Amino acid sequence: MKAHDGMYIGGAWRPAAGQDTIPVVNPVDEQVIAHVPAGTPEDVDAAVGAARAALPGWAATPPAERAERIAALRDALAARKDEIAGTVTAELGSPLPFSQAVHAGLPIAVAGSYAELAASYAFEEKIGNSTVLLEPVGVVGAITPWNYPLHQIVAKVAPALAAGCTVVLKPAEDTPLVAQLFAEAVHEAGVPAGVFNLVTGLGPVAGQALAEHAGVDLVSFTGSTAVGRQIGATAGAAVKPVALELGGKSANVILPSADLAKAVNVGVANVMANSGQTCSAWTRMLVHADRYEEAVELAAAAAAKYGERIGPVVNAKQRDRVRGYIEKGVAEGARVVAGGAGTPYDKGYFITPTVFADVRADMAIAQEEIFGPVLSILPYADEDEALAIANGTVYGLAGAVWAGDEEEAVAFARRMDTGQVDINGGRFNPQAPFGGYKQSGVGRELGPHGLGEYLQTKSLQF
Ligand code: NAP
Ligand code: MG
Repeated sequence: MKAHDGMYIGGAWRPAAGQDTIPVVNPVDEQVIAHVPAGTPEDVDAAVGAARAALPGWAATPPAERAERIAALRDALAARKDEIAGTVTAELGSPLPFSQAVHAGLPIAVAGSYAELAASYAFEEKIGNSTVLLEPVGVVGAITPWNYPLHQIVAKVAPALAAGCTVVLKPAEDTPLVAQLFAEAVHEAGVPAGVFNLVTGLGPVAGQALAEHAGVDLVSFTGSTAVGRQIGATAGAAVKPVALELGGKSANVILPSADLAKAVNVGVANVMANSGQTCSAWTRMLVHADRYEEAVELAAAAAAKYGERIGPVVNAKQRDRVRGYIEKGVAEGARVVAGGAGTPYDKGYFITPTVFADVRADMAIAQEEIFGPVLSILPYADEDEALAIANGTVYGLAGAVWAGDEEEAVAFARRMDTGQVDINGGRFNPQAPFGGYKQSGVGRELGPHGLGEYLQTKSLQF
């Protein structure tokens, strides 16, 4: 695979400050496909310097011109759609059709939405005798994970650029190649030098240096709760805004009046997509006791069909972590009705799609984010119990409700402590605010709410 051996800083590929590199591994066959430079605090410092230098010019660029550059970025990404999909398949292991539709398709849609928003957003408003200016927050430090590697980058960089901010990105060490492709697209789009900068590297080295850098005005992080907590604490000590997107343990609530087969089949597909590596996945299915066994059989059959179609998880650590949870579920007394902790192939980081029945709400597999193709099915006796189970984790990122009519589903959704709920299989909307209640995070991404995260207000009184 093609890889740059430098960092994209100040509008050019520059040699890295250090000599160390990071191997990029294909999770399907465990082969090393490329190496990228391991960034040091020196690289981060150079990138933040370039972003600071570019900030006054970009912040003063009329929004319509910023919109033109973001539209050009969308077009550059669209022109590279196949290369993006092939690269994500190689470094993440997801099946090519999924890479094309989601890993390449979604970021193009999101970039397009910010090209439109940058042109139409009201960066000024009137309140009584005041004019309120919505100004860019400044230099953004963006730290992204590997699960939707390009989407997570675009969901931070596109609104930041629309707002007039400049950016330093530290992508996940497992998926740096698509981040380098993104930097090429930014360059082709004619975004001025220093407005976007890329430093590849390890989280505790390059990521931490970026999160702690005094020249960064806002840190936007997506990833694990443990790292998010640390980044939030660092930002708090420096009195800096922070956006955290930390995952979840979302509930798929199937009310007694629902179309059970549809709700179960869509629910299983939701969990197995991207090999279960989706922070908003509905990893807990809640079914009324009267229809529980029927749902379990349907889910087991649906999961078995995914066995051949699913990709691996991203790396050996994740595979072992997911297997550990499956073993824990068995040890805690849950019943495996599909899959299990066994190895489906002798190579690659594969996990067999797994479904647990007889799951109690206090089990680890019902409380903790597993981040693999593992579904837990829990019974409930009445709506109040279903609600208590749905809301009974530290997370609150997403969820689903199924019922005979929309009103009934919406009434239940209003009582859920979570950031987004799909009603009877409602489609994902790339402009709806995405983010969490409780420990799922702080702040929102996507659409106008996502743009708002990168703005601060200045009130002028007349
Ligand atoms: P992670 O370590 O939190 O990684 C997210 C990003 O933060 C990566 O770019 C990572 O760099 C970086 N990072 C790591 N340590 C850092 C530090 N001390 N300071 C600054 N940045 C740092 O997550 P992970 O280890 O890849 O995955 C672990 C678990 O996190 C998963 O099993 C899952 O539960 C959760 N997760 C959630 C999401 C989500 O969308 N909410 C996404 C991915 C993972 P490296 O790539 O070098 O580690
Ligand atoms: Mg990590």
